[in-house]
Amino acid sequence: MVFEGLSGKLQEAVNKLRGKGRVSEKDVKEMMREIKLALLEADVNFKVVKDFIGKVSERSVGQDVLESLTPGQQIIKIVHEELIELLGRESSKVTFSPKSPTVFMMVGLQGSGKTTTSGKLASLLRKQNAKKPLLVACDVYRPAAIKQLEVVGGQLNIPVFNMGDKVNPVEIAKAAIEHARLKLYDLVIIDTAGRLHIDEELMNELVGIKKAVMPQEILLVIDAMTGQDAVNVSQSFDEKLGVDGIILTKLDGDTRGGAALSVKAVTGKPIKFAGMGEKLSDLEPFFPDRMASRILGMGDVLSLIEKAQDAFDEKKALELEKKMRTMQFTFEDFLDQMQQIKKMGPLTQILGMLPGVNTKALEGAGLDEKKMGRVEAIIKSMTRQERNDPAIINGSRRKRIAFGSGTTIQEVNKLLKEFEEMKKLMKAMGDMSKFGKKGKGRF
Ligand code: GDP
Repeated sequence: MVFEGLSGKLQEAVNKLRGKGRVSEKDVKEMMREIKLALLEADVNFKVVKDFIGKVSERSVGQDVLESLTPGQQIIKIVHEELIELLGRESSKVTFSPKSPTVFMMVGLQGSGKTTTSGKLASLLRKQNAKKPLLVACDVYRPAAIKQLEVVGGQLNIPVFNMGDKVNPVEIAKAAIEHARLKLYDLVIIDTAGRLHIDEELMNELVGIKKAVMPQEILLVIDAMTGQDAVNVSQSFDEKLGVDGIILTKLDGDTRGGAALSVKAVTGKPIKFAGMGEKLSDLEPFFPDRMASRILGMGDVLSLIEKAQDAFDEKKALELEKKMRTMQFTFEDFLDQMQQIKKMGPLTQILGMLPGVNTKALEGAGLDEKKMGRVEAIIKSMTRQERNDPAIINGSRRKRIAFGSGTTIQEVNKLLKEFEEMKKLMKAMGDMSKFGKKGKGRF
């Protein structure tokens, strides 16, 4: 992906804080310096970088973060949130006009991927919104541009309207819409001409087409691999023409990708779609939050942290840690933990947010909702005294618990045994971390 270099460096910077119990202002400063360098190297606009670092720094050195139980995680969450903000917070869709046909006008520099993307977009909206699209060839200057659009249309089985290269593009656009009305196409996508650089003549022509057909959306196609330049290009197009949304192409490339992180902040225009490859199916709606997660390489761990934050109470967590270390952890605490986890949502959904976790395999291993329900029923059938001191649970008590919870004596036995083993394990882990503290920091 285009962000690979940036992604690696950002991850390196944030990983230093992950799991750290104590983070100082100096740590935060060091991390911000690394993030800043990574962004500048990726060719993100300087002003955008400055703003981003300013916001993240300010939020990260707050007492609520540094003095929390998991400062490292909190800061990663802040970086993620600000990255989403940078990419546009909410995902934006294209809008269709109430009167058919809806007209979209594709603009951008030559080579940005305009022609290919016109086809990809027509195909995506045909599939997602049941549209009946018509592609229009208005690039009468570039040799073979019309032919290229026809090839793309042919592959997708989408008709292409063209009048050759001798007719004025404004006339072609008007005629195409007339044709669409007659033939009941409800979506017209106009592929316009691009140049290597922005020039007056081209802009005037695009303004002419815009006035003649009043498109519902003008979509600017930008090659994500171009850095600063992309920002200037977007600004010019927006000033002269007014742009409604941006489509970033070549996000599958392996260069720096600074454009992607700059255009929204500089132009204020939303990124609506992302081109992820050369195939005509490689166009996706753009989701800022998913992109931010991908850049930070975090699966959906962040939603998980958020959910955990909502569900868990920090004071309780500290008490619990102490109990685990000193072998005082009881069935009462266990039940409490289960209730808290349940508050976060279905178990498989929670675990599914971890990168690389295969929820099917987890279910296969017996780690599922049903099993959790049975365990809960068993604990609920114990008296308070039994929960706090499982040693008193003799044969007749086991029978009563099994009967009360609708399970079997074997299941009750198994849970009691597993619980004892878990307690031993917790104690061992507590001892190890104490030992680690005396030695070279925590393990
Ligand atoms: P135009 O001059 O703006 O119309 O650009 P084209 O549509 O001709 O695209 C230029 C080149 O970029 C072509 O070789 C496309 O296959 C390629 N391209 C377009 N979008 C993507 C993309 O998302 N990923 C990759 N890898 N290549 C793309």
